[in-house]
Amino acid sequence: MSQRPIYLDCNATTPIDPQVLDAMLPYFTEYFGNAASINHIYGWEAEAAIKQAREIIAQAIHATPEEIVFTSGATESNNLALKGVAEAYFNQGRHIITTLTEHNAILDPCHYLETLGFEITYLPVKPDGIVDIAELKTAIRPDTILVSIMAANNEIGVLQPLAEIGEICHTQGILFHTDGAQAVGKIPLDVQQMNLDLMSLTAHKIYGPKGIGALYVRRRHPRVKLAAQLHGGGHERGMRSGTLSTPQIVGFAKAIELALSQIRSENQRLILLREILCKKLSTLDGIYLNGHPTQRLAGNLNISVEGVDGQALLLGLQSIMAVSSGSACTSTKIEPSHVLKALGHSDQLAYASIRFGLGRFTTESEIHQVADYTVNTIQSLRRIKSR
Ligand SMILES: *Cc1c(COP(=O)(O)O)cnc(C)c1O
Repeated sequence: MSQRPIYLDCNATTPIDPQVLDAMLPYFTEYFGNAASINHIYGWEAEAAIKQAREIIAQAIHATPEEIVFTSGATESNNLALKGVAEAYFNQGRHIITTLTEHNAILDPCHYLETLGFEITYLPVKPDGIVDIAELKTAIRPDTILVSIMAANNEIGVLQPLAEIGEICHTQGILFHTDGAQAVGKIPLDVQQMNLDLMSLTAHKIYGPKGIGALYVRRRHPRVKLAAQLHGGGHERGMRSGTLSTPQIVGFAKAIELALSQIRSENQRLILLREILCKKLSTLDGIYLNGHPTQRLAGNLNISVEGVDGQALLLGLQSIMAVSSGSACTSTKIEPSHVLKALGHSDQLAYASIRFGLGRFTTESEIHQVADYTVNTIQSLRRIKSR
């Protein structure tokens, strides 16, 4: 059997850490109770485990446990934040501000809200991928109810200045939401210091299980009102009904705990690996780094390659490495990434891009192999083209 390619797509998802799996397993079998069953020990056990997990997750972002609403992941959290705020505050205004480089789990709910009569401003970003604070200030109107700007970009890894944005929103009395799916466990997040009112989280980008996430919803200064989008048993203080998945929630908390316990050393390790990769790729001409060189996630490297076809490049690499490209196939055609286009790239450079997502299980020897193979592939594609 041939070996599977080296996994370098950690911005898409990550494997479950064995320690996370160990923490989860008893809650599938022995402690299987429904946390809403208040009449017997099976329910109490599940409830206690969820309570502890909620405390860990809240503490990780300097929130209180009552401010954590469990969801199925960041997509649902983003939908709940945007639609839930829009529905609760539409009497105060119908204008929302976001950016052009958000994940589709923000952009699509925004497009949906436009069909209901909300107005959305999509802020451009600077060529390094960071929002222009002056543009944000100009975009704010008396009827702006919400600003939603992601913490870390899933394609180019760029970190947005959350504290600065939060300060502006706070002084203007506008709610501030961030999509923190790529940021939690990778950079310090503090809902107080950053003036965050809502934040979407997910477990599967930090070695936790897929299908579990949370929305942080501020309860004091101000108390955020949110219209539920799922109605049922009134779980999660009425904001999100549905039986809580104890194993998923326990795994989520373990994943955050593990990530935070090694955040500094792991970031240092990833930066060193990324530098090895970057240095080898820089021996070629016509390689462009996408996104700010330092204000970015440690594990993310996104480059555009001049003079090669994007599809040919990905095809050339895929037997050796699992990476992502800046173009996505929709049902009919290949579209260049909206994020790379927002940086001002030509279609060619947006198509011919590679996202390397390094993670906890990436080794130095893998990075050397990947770097050498990528350099050779680009060289031979360029040679064929110039013949
Ligand atoms: C992965 C991701 C999402 C979607 O999260 P799910 O938990 O898979 O629904 C949303 N936003 C960003 C920035 C992401 O990276």
